[in-house]
Amino acid sequence: MAKILMKTPLVEMDGDEMTRVIWTWIKEILLEPYIELNTEYYDLGLKNRDLTDDQVTIDSAEATKKYGVAVKCATITPNAARVIEYDLKEMWKSPNGTIRAILDGTVFREPILVKGIIPFVRTWKKPISIARHAYGDVYKNTEMKTEGAGKAEIVFTDKDGKETRQTIHEFTDDGIIMGMHNTDKSIRSFARACFTYALDKKQDLWFATKDTISKIYDHRFKDIFNEIYEAEYSRKFREAGIEYFYTLIDDAVARVVRSEGGFIWACKNYDGDVMSDMIASAFGSLAMMTSVLVSPEGYYEYEAAHGTVQRHYYSHLEGKETSTNSVATIFAWTGALRKRGELDELPDLVSFAGKLEKACLDTIESGIMTRDLIALSVLENKKAVNTRDFLLEIRKRLDEMMQ
Ligand code: NAP
Ligand code: MG
Repeated sequence: MAKILMKTPLVEMDGDEMTRVIWTWIKEILLEPYIELNTEYYDLGLKNRDLTDDQVTIDSAEATKKYGVAVKCATITPNAARVIEYDLKEMWKSPNGTIRAILDGTVFREPILVKGIIPFVRTWKKPISIARHAYGDVYKNTEMKTEGAGKAEIVFTDKDGKETRQTIHEFTDDGIIMGMHNTDKSIRSFARACFTYALDKKQDLWFATKDTISKIYDHRFKDIFNEIYEAEYSRKFREAGIEYFYTLIDDAVARVVRSEGGFIWACKNYDGDVMSDMIASAFGSLAMMTSVLVSPEGYYEYEAAHGTVQRHYYSHLEGKETSTNSVATIFAWTGALRKRGELDELPDLVSFAGKLEKACLDTIESGIMTRDLIALSVLENKKAVNTRDFLLEIRKRLDEMMQ
């Protein structure tokens, strides 16, 4: 059988530890036998980031702007221990943070559903995606602990030196204060990324904040979403048969739990942090959660939501058998290949992505899975396999479908 050809290169960002091992195996076992893989390769492994003074991360993000679609392996975000372990020149920043800053994107996370792993919420039939605004609020705050009586104020000095001030609180005793911000520009990007993604997925978009209490701050998010929706997206949404609506965050939480799923839930930074962990664990496992960064210009970077699975890697290095779940990393590849296929009008590539995803689900639904899923699956006949055998089992099913 002739291999599927690609037109535009896919930006390939290699990474670290167990996921780097899996990365090579996925290409060898599941991709290269079927596709004449055309990628522009960037090694974001920590050693090479150090060697290039992290330039490779910047180059890979710039390449994503050039070509439009990237697939990324999980990478180590260095801490003090990693600086020693890898003898680093400095404690390089999180690659995801660097890439996000260059692409100005929003992160969307979606659980992969399989038969046998039942969501803890009984009504959920379809996945729920979280769209998390990744800039500002409490993550870029200024905090202060105060002692004794005193007045706390909020002061804005404009470019001509004119001050606007408001009292936060007149303290009579010890207390705490916090200041935080966001920018219209960042909120607009967030809104456009959410609307673009909803159209792409043909799913409804929900957005929720606490604007009844935060009448200026949260209300600004609500207004910007509404303005952009009316001006740029309402017609496209009607044509696609999907809906956008805004509701209060507490109402959204109640509705999400009673829903069937199958929509995108846009959240402010903190809400998104908390809710994405809730959604991931309520659906089953972090190893079954995909993640894609979408820029307002429509650049896409696909990855798994989990990290480099360090503990498994150390076992692997000791020559012990591992049973690491590769599904989210495979879905990062299929997401990127499908998007590449859609943009380049390559139906064979799009169809291959669907088949590979189905082969993964069929494997797990036939009872063959990695150890992390054994504990979750309610199937009667289930068998744990090692990391590589799991990929070989998927290959068997994919081979049948490709004939
Ligand atoms: P992790 O890699 O997500 O793994 C945490 C634990 O979750 C694992 O030890 C394992 O539990 C389980 N797990 C996660 N993914 C799994 C999979 N695919 N298959 C089976 N089990 C899985 O987080 P971490 O160990 O805390 O972080 C390791 C490194 O990843 C850190 O250096 C961090 O900076 C980096 N990280 C990168 C990204 C990214 O690139 N997007 C995201 C998060 C973290 P058991 O050990 O109990 O089996
Ligand atoms: Mg979190």
